[in-house]
Amino acid sequence: MSAPADDRAPKALVLEALPDAVIASMEVRDAWRNRIVESDEGLEFLVTDLASWRPGSTLRVAFLGGDSALHAKIADATRQITDACNIALDFGRDAAGEFRRWHPGDTAYSAEIRVSFDQGGFFSLVGTDSTDSTIGRPGDPVGGRPGQRSLNLEGFPTVLPPDWQGTVRHEFLHALAFSHEHQNMRGPCEDDFRWEDDPGYLPTQDASGMFVRDESGRYPGIYTYLAGEPNRWPRAKVDHNLRTVEDPNFVPGPFDPESVMLYQFDGFFYKSSPSRCAPTGNGIDLSDGDKRGLRLLYPGQGPGLDDITGRAKDTFERLGGADESAFELSPFEERVLELVRAKAGF
Ligand SMILES: [Zn+2]
Repeated sequence: MSAPADDRAPKALVLEALPDAVIASMEVRDAWRNRIVESDEGLEFLVTDLASWRPGSTLRVAFLGGDSALHAKIADATRQITDACNIALDFGRDAAGEFRRWHPGDTAYSAEIRVSFDQGGFFSLVGTDSTDSTIGRPGDPVGGRPGQRSLNLEGFPTVLPPDWQGTVRHEFLHALAFSHEHQNMRGPCEDDFRWEDDPGYLPTQDASGMFVRDESGRYPGIYTYLAGEPNRWPRAKVDHNLRTVEDPNFVPGPFDPESVMLYQFDGFFYKSSPSRCAPTGNGIDLSDGDKRGLRLLYPGQGPGLDDITGRAKDTFERLGGADESAFELSPFEERVLELVRAKAGF
């Protein structure tokens, strides 16, 4: 007996994910930062503030692979972002029309955002992690060191996906410290995701190893589906990528179903239809909420900017920044001081 046709049927959906070694190094670093914050209430803004760049910054972008026509398209697509906030992206276009390139052998940063096309999937490090040398393993393709990729757009030189501008904007928003809208703790996604299999589901895989409906038409849940091809995610990775972020330092806005940061999942991922968690935007253009978020993180002159600078100055003093030469600093401590000093404008 074959299962009836159904547009909720699982398709081979490759989810965006950072390499495991990158996630592992972020978790070690974040645990260290959270301990610092717990030990001193005055540092409560530390964690989110450290992820974003200093408002008014010019971030350099460089490419590994691809030609000038592609680079120009990507640069054009990011203009919606820079038009909405106080950050500039410098693609280093020269008189001959060539864009800035970076190389895996670089020992100094050619660019804060290092784009590649040769890794699997689409992903980006989040905000200042792109220049954090504690992120990723030395020698790995992806990480925060000068010769490591920070943002990947698989296959763009060969064929541009139909919604490629949305993908570019989604990944560049990560590079500007945005996280996923479906992990917004005020949002409906966690409650509406079908985490578990339909009752009585018999694990059934197609020839490629993807979990599909069983012969009675029952669906795999998200954990089972993502454990199969083409993702092969263990439970912890599913939780890291899809569960609500409960970080007390994380300050989400209201849930925004039009955001380019909200994934379009297959129908079987949701309990309800249509799901309140399903995107209502076109997946290409920034929503008003995305633009509000950008202005919050990267305001122009005014009280918003004064708040950010003031918090950074307070944090710098609490961390004993002025005495830093008096004792030996760990790489984590050095990095925090560097970021706070930059934000404070010292
Ligand atoms: Zn993403």
